[in-house]
Amino acid sequence: EAKQQGGNQFLFYQTDMNAESKEQLLLENDLRKALDRNEIEVYFQPQVDGQTLKPYGAEALVRWHHPSEGLVSPAVFIPIAENNGMIVEIGQYVLQSAVQEAEKWHADGYEIHIGINLSGRQFSSSNLMKDVQSVLQNSPLPAQYLDLEITESLAMSNADHNISILKGLKAMGVTLSIDDFGTGYSSLAYLHSFPIDAIKIDRSFIKNLETQEGQAIVRTVLAMAESLKLKVVAEGIEDEFHVSFLQNKNCDVFQGFKFGKPMPADEFQQYLKSHNTP
Ligand code: C2E
Ligand code: MG
Ligand code: MG
Ligand code: MG
Repeated sequence: EAKQQGGNQFLFYQTDMNAESKEQLLLENDLRKALDRNEIEVYFQPQVDGQTLKPYGAEALVRWHHPSEGLVSPAVFIPIAENNGMIVEIGQYVLQSAVQEAEKWHADGYEIHIGINLSGRQFSSSNLMKDVQSVLQNSPLPAQYLDLEITESLAMSNADHNISILKGLKAMGVTLSIDDFGTGYSSLAYLHSFPIDAIKIDRSFIKNLETQEGQAIVRTVLAMAESLKLKVVAEGIEDEFHVSFLQNKNCDVFQGFKFGKPMPADEFQQYLKSHNTP
């Protein structure tokens, strides 16, 4: 296309960027109405115990059913929501509805953990503590089943400050995980002083298990986690080799398409019924 325009790269990119930012503006505009219109839904992806392969937990993953665009990925709309501040409201909604679903599972006798992603703006919002506290106060779900995830890069930026926020959250009895572990730059000294319970190995590393080097990296991460007494959740488990390799090395929890894709709440309840006895 650039060639057809006489190699005018500048024009090409300029036009392209305008179209993209127009699209972003439209999405941003629609996002403001999405919650009121019930277009935001929380999906749940199964997590299984690394040894028994029985249900262990679920990660709450938000979805936007756009009236004309169809399903919009959180990778697209979470950054928009971060920018315009809507993430705080969306985050509250995700937290409330995920805990509500987890209550139902527990009422049915399934002791399932629920993982919630916190974005940067949410994490530094003064409302976070209040929100988590009030959700826990209004729910029979024991706090230790609520797991809050923050990404490694978020955790390590302004680490000293974050440690104090994490300690506040931890004091409420919730568990804390470092998400996308390995994609940021963790200082081991900091990792040690973070009041965290688990790390989630990013799926790019699981993908690399095909290579010797990839295997060495995952082995090293598992050994480090063991000596720091951290649980390890492996993301992106897609095949039997991933399972046997990680099982052999006592990885604690598995999450990936092999065990289930993110699904609506009613489907997840069916999943629990068919994969476990309470
Ligand atoms: P994440 O927290 O690292 O979530 C895992 C992502 O990996 C999910 O993508 C999940 O569908 C995908 N995944 C899991 N297993 C597999 C697998 O075996 N193969 C492949 N190819 N993918 C797998 P999803 O749902 O599109 O979410 C993308 C990201 O959006 C999340 O990454 C998280 O950073 C963000 N996100 C999702 N929901 C929320 C939310 O409620 N709040 C915030 N702040 N961020 C969210
Ligand atoms: Mg996550
Ligand atoms: Mg992750
Ligand atoms: Mg990830």
